[in-house]
Amino acid sequence: MIEAKGTCFCGDVCFTVEVDPLKVAICHCLDCQRVSGSAFRHTVFGDKTTLKFQSGNVTAFDKVGDSGNTRRQLFCATCGTNIGSVPPEGDPTLFASIRVPILDVKDQLPPRVSVWNTSHVDWLDGLNDLPSLEQQS
Ligand SMILES: [Zn+2]
Ligand SMILES: [Zn+2]
Repeated sequence: MIEAKGTCFCGDVCFTVEVDPLKVAICHCLDCQRVSGSAFRHTVFGDKTTLKFQSGNVTAFDKVGDSGNTRRQLFCATCGTNIGSVPPEGDPTLFASIRVPILDVKDQLPPRVSVWNTSHVDWLDGLNDLPSLEQQS
């Protein structure tokens, strides 16, 4: 496990959490596409008992995922950045799913597995063929 620091888009929410660099996934499920606003979501396993918020207000709601499991989804109350998900009240599992792009150690967390490929968007496989610019223009 490695110690990670996370920060939301607006900077209000700061947290620390221990994450497992061997348990990193990209998920192509429809929920992950919606919540990330992108083709997939990039997450790492975190130990929920180590997830500590230093600042900011976190808002949450419970959602039944495509897997059938209920997860508590966490967001910055100001900017809406998805922090991750944790087990709901009363669930003893340790699995906190933390969004990799908001972590300071993101470069150490390349994906190890790709899941829910049944809803993988078709154009992903052609990314390397797109015109590629160093910046926006
Ligand atoms: Zn924020
Ligand atoms: Zn997913």
